[in-house]
Amino acid sequence: MVKIKVRFYTKGSFVKDPTLRYEGGDLFAVQGIDSDKWFYFEATDHLEEKVRNFDLASINLWWMHDDGTLAEDIKPFKDDRDARKMSKFAIDNKVFVFVFEIYAEPKASSLDLQSLIGKGKNVVGADKGQSSKALVVDDAPEESSEESDYETDDSDEDSTDESVKDVHFYDSEEERALDNDCPYEAESESDGGGRRNTLKFNHEETMTENFSFVKGMEFSSLQQFKEAVHKHNVLLMRDVKIVKNDAYRCRVVCKKKEECNYLLLCSRVRTTTTFRVKTSKEKHDCGKRFNSKSAKAAWVATVIVDKLKNNPKMKLNEIVAEVRTRFSIDIPTGRAFKARQIARRIVEGDASKQYSLLWSYSAELRRVSPGNTCKLEIDRPDPMLQHRFGRDPNDQYLPLAFVVVETESKDSWSWFMTLLLEDIGERRWCFISDQQKGLINVFEEMLPGTEHRFCVRHLYANFKKKFGGGTLLRDLMMGAAKATYYEAWEDKMEQIKQEKKAAYDWLIAIPTKQWCKHAFPFYSRCDVIMNNLSESFNATILLQRDKPIITMIEWIRKYLMERFATLREKG
Ligand SMILES: [Zn+2]
Repeated sequence: MVKIKVRFYTKGSFVKDPTLRYEGGDLFAVQGIDSDKWFYFEATDHLEEKVRNFDLASINLWWMHDDGTLAEDIKPFKDDRDARKMSKFAIDNKVFVFVFEIYAEPKASSLDLQSLIGKGKNVVGADKGQSSKALVVDDAPEESSEESDYETDDSDEDSTDESVKDVHFYDSEEERALDNDCPYEAESESDGGGRRNTLKFNHEETMTENFSFVKGMEFSSLQQFKEAVHKHNVLLMRDVKIVKNDAYRCRVVCKKKEECNYLLLCSRVRTTTTFRVKTSKEKHDCGKRFNSKSAKAAWVATVIVDKLKNNPKMKLNEIVAEVRTRFSIDIPTGRAFKARQIARRIVEGDASKQYSLLWSYSAELRRVSPGNTCKLEIDRPDPMLQHRFGRDPNDQYLPLAFVVVETESKDSWSWFMTLLLEDIGERRWCFISDQQKGLINVFEEMLPGTEHRFCVRHLYANFKKKFGGGTLLRDLMMGAAKATYYEAWEDKMEQIKQEKKAAYDWLIAIPTKQWCKHAFPFYSRCDVIMNNLSESFNATILLQRDKPIITMIEWIRKYLMERFATLREKG
């Protein structure tokens, strides 16, 4: 598994003149994705969350690794198969953090990208850097090709830094008066010629030393702005303070303001809830301070909280290392300890808050999806996830129900089975399970009339553990399971007996009606002996098990809904 970072390019479109490039639009990035958790709907979820009025139906998605050239390396991104190609690409290239770029292209676009792909190799002067990296944030396409339109006053080497190289920010205005008493932005700012395109601060992107609070950058709240400033200055190893701070604006200066002209001013855009950087003089004149006091425990907690969600047992030295790698700061172990306490409270707070919301959540589910069943009995957290699948006669699987229980026991199984049968009605159902202990008892005691089979794959796994593998025994056992008449079954069993008496004794002790095709009752008209679907579903939802309860259920619900929709389209 490798970590993937994905940059999403949206609201722009491809142009070819003469090289292929993506022009206009916005950019945001998501990082820290595990390559084995990368799915198509993961990508579209991010797009829907981040891009206003995003409409998946009207766009095509494309992907490319960030070292690629658009004309040569861009590929369609349509489904999970493409997502797997990306994961495989990242794994094959054995880099710790792999960066992909995803481009959203309006379907209505006049450019037939499909026909252009691969032809880029012949384009004279196809400039790799240019074609893949130049994202012009500018509303006025006619002017956008002139280099002089872009800010050029920053001639330091670090103008090529990672975080800002993707964006050339159009800004020709003079700096506004530093201490403007009007709490709102003057309206004239957005009038006039080349209207400045908005550059939204992306809080998902990791703050780096090279981050730039460009004038005009937008924040969704002052709190978000302050946090970003704080994180940034921790990286810069400077201490800053907020000198003017009300509901509409905030002014940040360096703590050594006698010798340093650092200044950021952020204020609310009139009649909106957006805050915009008005003044930015973000280079410190003062020197670095080591062991920055700013890296306080609460801040460290916000840095590690996501990691802690996936790894509640995160060790103190891992926390110290995490802060060191990401921010080049050494924090004392004591602070790591305090930070972990704070972060745990944040994580657990999330989790228990969701438990208290479960009743209203289930009420809402019943309201929006009549005909579905949602039953609730809240006991204690730390749930396990179980599910059942239905199979229709056309060999199509469809998820029937899933349940979250405190532990896999006879109690929880009988609770679930009772509710399930209540819901689907008493009929001659045939259940296939993977030999869970609790479930076997439930079937024997509570539901004697219900047919219950073992998944032969699981049965074999247990068989193999006891008697060892080897193709001979495996084929004989599978053969016995699949045999459609008694004599064929008897023949295979006899051979197993010759081969390994103990294995024979073990198998013969299991009622044949639970694992042998020849002994299945006639009425169920179902000759399935394996539940493969459960396995793949398991693998998918396994990734969600650690999430707070509503987050997890919502994810599964959406995943199933989208699966239905996709299958319906194909069918
Ligand atoms: Zn300073």
